Parts: sequence; C-alpha cells; structure tokens
Amino acid sequence: MNQSEPITIGMLGGGQLGQMFCHAATRAGVKTHVFCPGDGEPATQVCDTKTIAAYDDLDAVEAFAKSVEAVTYEFENVPAATAEACAKHCPVRPGQQVLAVAQDRIVEKTTLASHGIPVGPFAKVQSLEELREAAKTIGAPGVLKTASGGYDGKGQRVLHSGDEAELIYAWEDLGKRPCVYEGFIDFEQEVSIVAARGCAESSGEIVTYGPIANTHRNHILDVSVVPSGAPESVEQEAIDIARQVMEKLDVVGVLCVEFFQTRDGKMLVNELAPRPHNSGHLTIDAYTHSQFDQQVACAMGKAPLPVKLKQPSAMVNLLGDLWPIGDEPPWEAIKSQEALYLHLYGKAQARPGRKMGHLTALARTPHEAIRDAVEARSRITPRPPLERG
Ligand code: AMP
Repeated sequence: MNQSEPITIGMLGGGQLGQMFCHAATRAGVKTHVFCPGDGEPATQVCDTKTIAAYDDLDAVEAFAKSVEAVTYEFENVPAATAEACAKHCPVRPGQQVLAVAQDRIVEKTTLASHGIPVGPFAKVQSLEELREAAKTIGAPGVLKTASGGYDGKGQRVLHSGDEAELIYAWEDLGKRPCVYEGFIDFEQEVSIVAARGCAESSGEIVTYGPIANTHRNHILDVSVVPSGAPESVEQEAIDIARQVMEKLDVVGVLCVEFFQTRDGKMLVNELAPRPHNSGHLTIDAYTHSQFDQQVACAMGKAPLPVKLKQPSAMVNLLGDLWPIGDEPPWEAIKSQEALYLHLYGKAQARPGRKMGHLTALARTPHEAIRDAVEARSRITPRPPLERG
C-alpha cells in the first residue's frame, strides 16, 4: 500500500455500533468500508464505501476483505466461514478464536473456567436427561440458555422449582437445542468492563473502561452508569479479571466482559462480547477516547489510546417506544440542557424495543448523572392522555 493513502478498515455489520465506529474512524482520518446485507442501515449512511451483500456470499466477502487493511465487526454472530474468508486476505480483529468462544455459551463458559476465570455454576445440557441431571446437581432456581443465537434475554428460560413439568416445558420451549443450565445468581448488580488490547507488535497493552453498572428493562439494557459504586477492591477485581480474559484469549481489539457482582463482593463473568458494547456508549462523551476510537486503533494494529474518565456519567437507551406514530420525539424539550448528549442512529422505522439512539449525561456524581439522563428521557416520553371523569 502507498503510505500516503489513507488506511481503510472493513466493518462487518451495518448497525449503530458500526455507525459509531465509522464516526470514530473518520475523526482518526481512517476510511471505512461497511459490509452488510441491508442498504440504508445506520453504518451505511456514514461509511466511505459499502458492500451490500449476504454474509454467506463468500465471493463478495473476499472482494471486501481484499479492499481493506483489516476487518473488524459489530456483532459476534459473524459466521465462521465469513471470518475465515476475510482472514485469507487481511487480519480480522478480534480474531476468529475469540469469535468461536463468544458464539457458543458452552464453549464460552468451559473456556473461561479452564483458564481459572470465575464463572457461576453451570452445566452443558444436550438432552432432557442432562437437564434433569444439571437441575439436580446445581439446583433451582436456575436459567436455561440456548448455547447459540440468543441475545437481549431471547433463548432463555428461568426455572423456578426445577420440577419435571418445568424442565420439560423449558426444554421443549427452547427447541431441544444444546444449552447451558446456570445456577441463578442473586446479584447485587450487573457490571461490565470494556477492554481494548493492542496486537503483539504494538506491545499488547491493555486499557479498560469501568466497571460500568448496568440495569435492564424487559431484558434490554436501560441505564448504564460509571463509576459503578462498587467498593474499590471489588472494582479492581473486575478489572483484573477483564485483563486476564484479554490475555488468556489473546484478544486484539475491543471486548466487553459482563459480570454479576455478587452480594458477597465477588465478580462472576456472565458473558463476553468481542466488540464495543451498548454499556460502553457513554465512553463517547465521558472519556478522553471512546470504545470506538479503541476499535479503530486496535484494528489498525496500533496500541490502545489512553483512557481517562472526564466526569461521572450515565447513559439511557432511547427505544422505539418513545417515537410517536409518524412523528419524532419532542427534542426541543432537552435541547438546551447542558452536559447532555443526544445520539441518534438514523433508523428509518421506530419499533417498540428497537434501539433508536441514546442519551448521555455528565454530572458531579453518578447519581446526579442518572437523574439527569432519566429526567431528560422522561421529558421526551409520550404521555397517555388523562382519562376524563
Ligand atoms: P445474558 O443474555 O446471559 O446476558 O442474560 C440476560 C440477563 O438475564 C442478564 O443480564 C441477567 O439480568 C439475567 N441473567 C442471566 N443469567 C443469569 C443467572 N445465571 N442468574 C441471574 N440472572 C441471570
């Protein structure tokens, strides 16, 4: 490549994470080439080049990979054949081995445990008989999760009693597919760490954001806040575990580790996402460099950038539920608020539960940041008309 030409990074996936990656790349003077099946998706609106094709169109995938210096992605369910086709032509960061771990909960939990990373009690379940066995050994309550394909709480059933009827129902309901059965963790809170690691040539340095405390509504992330409020030693434990994950799995790029913080102050890894994460969106406004800046730097083979929290911060998701039919939320209600940052993803259609954007507030304390972000969102929330009479 001619050194005077700008570098191009390939992005598999066209959603909002890809869009925010493209914004970061543009700020860094890096060109972007987005590959995704649907034209008009958020990332295709802001990239330099796009290929609209199916992920299993391997000729298109190879042509895409040949046109870029490195490939990264915004979702962990990139088919193995697609990642392999890219890897023939350029580095894929994070690499295929991390993808394979994150795509299958059985492999994920087993690999983490084999490296001595703390996870909750779990068992591999491939038949109803194995589910009975798991429920007996681990006990109820517990959560049965399909090994692959689940997200935002989909593909999961909570087992309250573990009695025969409940086991049969959950097993049938999830499609009799390979699963993990996990003991139910009575957690204090859920937190995440977003970590970034450079390649060996760039010294393999690791930086981390958080822990970020996360609350969900209807299984979808609702509010994220940093600092998490956990005691310092507990926060440090999460950071140490995230660093171990990055090293043991030899991750190059950005990866999010989601944890349960238990009531006795332990951190158990719930799952991994080898990409920027919704809980890390507050890094755009609250830190000197964002998770997307790190994705750009690490994909290019550079060392991660320095991470410094500017102020306590909270992010709230803006779901399609806030959009009045055929109209936009009343943005003027929040426009003049200081230290409040609105991000919209440019999705044409608002649907309930669909992530349309997010709001980030910076404040003196984490509590004030949550208050500011939540209050701002409530000012744009449609109110049902008051009943008369
Ligand atoms: P996941 O898809 O694994 O992130 O699970 C979605 C959500 O379900 C988590 O964010 C938790 O709130 C809850 N959950 C999942 N697994 C467990 C568990 N073993 N114990 C308690 N809650 C869980």
